[in-house]
Amino acid sequence: MRYSALKILTQGLTGNKGWTPVWREPEPQAEYDIIVIGGGGHGLSTAYYLAKEFGEKRVAVLEKGWLGSGNIGRNTTIIRSNYLLEGNQPFYEMSLKLWEGLEQDFNYNAMVSQRGIMNLIHSDPQRDAFVRRGNAMRLSGADAVILDRDGIREKAPFLDFDNGRFPIQGAIWQPRGGTVRHDAVAWGYARGADSRGVDIIQNCEVTGFQIENGVCSGVETSKGAIKAKKVAVCVAGSSSRVMETAGMRVPIESHVLQAFVTEGLKPVIPGVITFGAGHFYVSQSDKGGLVFGGDIDGYNTYAQRGNLPVVEDVCEGGMAIMPMIGRARLLRMWGGVMDMSMDGSPFIDRTHIDGLYFNGGWCYGGFKATPASGFCYAHLLSTGSPHPTATAYRLDRFRQGRQIDEKGMGNQPNLH
Ligand SMILES: Cc1cc2nc3c(=O)[nH]c(=O)nc-3n(C[C@H](O)[C@H](O)[C@H](O)COP(=O)(O)OP(=O)(O)OC[C@H]3O[C@@H](n4cnc5c(N)ncnc54)[C@H](O)[C@@H]3O)c2cc1C
Repeated sequence: MRYSALKILTQGLTGNKGWTPVWREPEPQAEYDIIVIGGGGHGLSTAYYLAKEFGEKRVAVLEKGWLGSGNIGRNTTIIRSNYLLEGNQPFYEMSLKLWEGLEQDFNYNAMVSQRGIMNLIHSDPQRDAFVRRGNAMRLSGADAVILDRDGIREKAPFLDFDNGRFPIQGAIWQPRGGTVRHDAVAWGYARGADSRGVDIIQNCEVTGFQIENGVCSGVETSKGAIKAKKVAVCVAGSSSRVMETAGMRVPIESHVLQAFVTEGLKPVIPGVITFGAGHFYVSQSDKGGLVFGGDIDGYNTYAQRGNLPVVEDVCEGGMAIMPMIGRARLLRMWGGVMDMSMDGSPFIDRTHIDGLYFNGGWCYGGFKATPASGFCYAHLLSTGSPHPTATAYRLDRFRQGRQIDEKGMGNQPNLH
């Protein structure tokens, strides 16, 4: 069923009886050409582009829970392409361009809202670093503007410009950054993939791989064994656990990241604002809640809830740049398990096992990458060669000394 204004009108006038389910609930077949493990944003977008752009006909997505139960439905919804390094910036710009046409492309309202993202500057060296980043962004075709204090005041007069410890000196502003309704992205991709024949199988956990003589020919699941010519892992925070069952140790640790939402307020935050002297980012949802977050919890865990020291740290960041946030009442908070790679950058690659592919290491920035990740992974799976924009995301880059260390932190997953 195609959605349109006319459809809503006619359904509204006829008792809303004609809507059909957004995707089917098929039983798994005995064999597929390509199995994608993980029905999060990246798995679903991979399946969508496999079917739509590469004409793959026999594709299944196996999801152990329900669609949207992972990080795709838990993130703070920020999209941007404000990276510095060559391995990253063009990829994230490709993703932002895909976001811009996404709703028309998959005919679903994902509430893509390009209200801009503003990273605050609190010191002279930080200004130099952000100007350099802005230049890198512009070289890749992205948009970047350096704002002075008056420029920021026009957009966000409520900020604490003369905070004793962290006075605001300026900002880097990406007008095309913004937010997207996260779970609608999962539903939109699922609907688009399903309508092109992809089987999306929920409550189907992959428990192992069929590997013989270095070749992967299928998976073991809670619904039985399924054969496949290619198996594409895409399980975000569960990457290490799933790859372990294939006998592989990936350069990834799992950490929890928390998110927070306040009661609904009148419109106040113009887009996304981030604190430059700590870790705090905030936007406002269309329902009015302030949506914010900060750093990951610094220890390894698979629990989808975090601890109070990080809550305190996040709230301190908020109070430092906008003290009025202290008067908002917090409604909800939750956590998601992040696949933190050693250098803070992701992987889209084949493994040393024939037929087994890996996509992961998205850290706490993988939501914005959802479209490009799916497109590039589908390209690799279908054509056998990496997409030109994602050639740096190799699994062996640590052995080669080609880390993509955006923050310059070294091999410290909890610091990226
Ligand atoms: C609190 C929070 C805030 C964030 N904020 C942002 C942000 O503002 N901007 C941004 O760009 N990124 C953000 N992120 C990161 C982003 O959400 C993730 O990087 C991204 O969603 C990960 O990819 P995914 O959507 O495919 O993951 P998921 O949705 O987690 O998908 C993985 C799926 O694999 C399934 N799975 C796992 N094991 C198996 C198995 N054995 N068999 C079958 N299925 C399995 C899981 O159930 C899950 O559904 C945030 C994350 C969190 C938690």
